[in-house]
Amino acid sequence: MLKDSRFFNISTLIIKVTNRCNLDCLYCYENVSRLGVDMSIETYKCLVDKTLSNTTQSSINFLFHGGEPSLISNQWYEQAMEYTIQMGKKYLKKVVFSMQTNLLALPDAKIDLFKKYDVQLGISLDGTFEENTAQRGAELRVLQNYNKLVNNNLKVGILSTINVDNFDKFDKICLFFESIKIKSFKANTVYNVGRGLNNQVLETSHVVQAQTSILKHMLNTKGLGLIEQNTLLELKRFFGQKTASSLCHDQVCGAGKLAMGITTNGDILPCGRFQWNDSQYYLGHIAAKEEDYFNKLNNFQNEAPENWLNCKNCGASKICRFSCQAFIVRSKDKINQECKPTIEKFNFFVEHHEALKLILANVEKGQRANVLFTIKTPQGPKEYHFNQ
Ligand code: SF4
Ligand code: SF4
Repeated sequence: MLKDSRFFNISTLIIKVTNRCNLDCLYCYENVSRLGVDMSIETYKCLVDKTLSNTTQSSINFLFHGGEPSLISNQWYEQAMEYTIQMGKKYLKKVVFSMQTNLLALPDAKIDLFKKYDVQLGISLDGTFEENTAQRGAELRVLQNYNKLVNNNLKVGILSTINVDNFDKFDKICLFFESIKIKSFKANTVYNVGRGLNNQVLETSHVVQAQTSILKHMLNTKGLGLIEQNTLLELKRFFGQKTASSLCHDQVCGAGKLAMGITTNGDILPCGRFQWNDSQYYLGHIAAKEEDYFNKLNNFQNEAPENWLNCKNCGASKICRFSCQAFIVRSKDKINQECKPTIEKFNFFVEHHEALKLILANVEKGQRANVLFTIKTPQGPKEYHFNQ
C-alpha cells in the first residue's frame, strides 16, 4: 500500500459509526436525528488499514462516536474489533477501543461486548438526576445504566457540560457525584453550534460561576474527593509542572495531525467535534489520494486569528487550555468564550495559592484511598467515605 502522510502521526480516530441518535439534546453539536446512515464494515476496515499501515504512533485509540454508537449491532462491532486486533498484530501496534455513549440503551449483550474488548466508555452526565434536564433528558434511565456498568467493573469516564441550564448547579452536581462515588470528571463548556446554533448564549459569568463552584468543592475536600480533570491540568501548569502535550490543550491543537474525525461515509474531518455533514471542513476521503490535505488543515487552524492576538502578553497563558478551534469556527461569532473565564480562574488561583497547592499535593500523593471527610451541604454537614 502506498504511504499516506495524512495518517503518519494519528493516535486517535473519532469514528462516527452512525448518524442516528436516540436522544435530542438541545446543544448537540452533531445535529443528528433518529434516521440516518451507519458506517459500512468495508469503510471501517479501509480506515483501519490506512491508519495502522501508516502511523508511526505505537498506540492507537479507536473511539466509536456518532450519533449514538451503541445503536450499532454487536455483530458489526465484533467484526470491526476482531479485524482491528488482527491488523494491530500485523503492524505491531497497540489498539485501544473506546466509545462515547449517552447510555440510554444498555442491553446485557452490549455489556458483554464492552468487557470482551475492554472498551473504555465515556458518558455524559450534566445533572443531579433528581430530575431529567431540559438540555438532555432521560437522566434517570442513564443513572440506572451507569450503575449497571459500575457493577460490572467497566471503565467509565464522566463528561459534563457547562450549559445555560446547569451553570448555577455545580455545587449540587459535585455533591451528587461524590454520593455515587464518582472520583473524577471533566466539565466542558458548551458552544452554540450544530443544533444549538440559536440557543441562549452561555455568558462569561455563567462559565465562571460553574467553574468557581467546582473549585470551591475541590477546596472543601482538599483534593481528597472529586477531581475535575481540566482544573487539575490547569493547576499542574499553574504550579510549574510539565504536563504531557495533549490533543486539545495547546494553542495549535492536534486536530488533523494526532486525531481525525471520520464520517460514516469515510470523509475526513479535522476532529470529531464537527458535524458529520460539515462538508466545508472535509479534508478528503480516507480511500482517495491525499490532495491539499495539509493546506486545508492549515486554513482551519488559522481561522479566527483574533482569538489569539493577546495570548503572548496574557498572564493566564500559563494555565490556558486554548479552547476548541472546531467549536470556535463553527459558532456564529467565532469567539473563544473560554478566554475571559480562564483569566478569572487564573486570578482565583493566585488568590488561593496555598490552598490549591495542598489540593495538588494530595492528588499526587494519591491520598484518596480510605478517606473520610465532611462536606457542608445545605442540609448540614455530611460525611463521605472513599474506599477505592
Ligand atoms: S478541534 Fe477541539 S476537540 Fe478537536 S483536537 Fe482541536 S481542541 Fe481538541
Ligand atoms: S486566556 Fe485568552 S488571551 Fe490568555 S492565553 Fe488563553 S486564550 Fe490567550
